[in-house]
Amino acid sequence: MPDTLPAPVDEVTAFFPNSRGIRIFILRLDVMHPIISGNKWFKLKYNLEAAHNGNFRQVITFGGAYSNHLIATAVASSAAGFSSVGIVRGVHAQQNLTPTMQACRQQGMRLHFVSREAYALRDDTQFLQDIEDLFGNSYIIPEGGNNDAGRKGAGEIADYIHQGATHVCLPVGTGTTFAGLRNRLDVAVGMTGFTAVKNGAYLEDEVARQLNDQQTKNWALETSCHFGGFAKTTPILLDFIRAFHTATGILLDIVYTGKMMFGICGLIERNAFAEGENIVCIHTGGLQGNPVDLSAA
Ligand SMILES: *Cc1c(COP(=O)(O)O)cnc(C)c1O
Repeated sequence: MPDTLPAPVDEVTAFFPNSRGIRIFILRLDVMHPIISGNKWFKLKYNLEAAHNGNFRQVITFGGAYSNHLIATAVASSAAGFSSVGIVRGVHAQQNLTPTMQACRQQGMRLHFVSREAYALRDDTQFLQDIEDLFGNSYIIPEGGNNDAGRKGAGEIADYIHQGATHVCLPVGTGTTFAGLRNRLDVAVGMTGFTAVKNGAYLEDEVARQLNDQQTKNWALETSCHFGGFAKTTPILLDFIRAFHTATGILLDIVYTGKMMFGICGLIERNAFAEGENIVCIHTGGLQGNPVDLSAA
């Protein structure tokens, strides 16, 4: 994998009817690579480096049947010369492979489907030992790249945020990207994370736990824009994504970035941002998981 990749920044202020001097930009991590989109590339970077330095030949990681992390790992591992194994949540997913699972297989990833009960043990030492007994000695990347190497890579997203930005918005799954970036970004820059799951308030503790002592200030999570739960959609969300695409030419995904942008609209309508703020919203990618083409105007 290349060491750095370019990502453009687009201004989308015109989409917001009443922005009162606030300027809104989108950092397009989605266009960095066609599949290893966005934040996943950053979270994998130092994990694959560690796998290489440890002379591992295989990578094992974890995710659901639509996981952006699994397909990104499959592609990045094969590009870096590793074989890969994906431990997938839910045995039912085996019968009717999702397009994401098919793509993982095409990249040479071996898939191993486990029950939700077994999947819950994914960080357990004995469970991991059993998996390695089955598949051989491997470098293990936790679900979502949620480890120090993942946070270190995510922190490098800070280098893409322009001087003058006063606030950064991004979607939150495990919180790895958010915490990694909070640890690297100037604490004077505010951060808001939009959680993709229902009842996402627990992620406040998750994120807080991952922050360095000097970097614990000036951030918040917005937990109400989940549209019914992880990967759930409503006609309002889908209409919003289509309207955003028509107006800006930028396509959002249904799981993370669509919900974040919808949430940002709400915050701007409620005057939650001060006049003159310079907001950078991070497009973390995820378009591979969209169930239908939402770009049709
Ligand atoms: C995985 C993912 C996220 C969440 O990242 P975390 O580091 O797990 O919080 C956000 N957006 C997209 C598009 C993703 O694929």
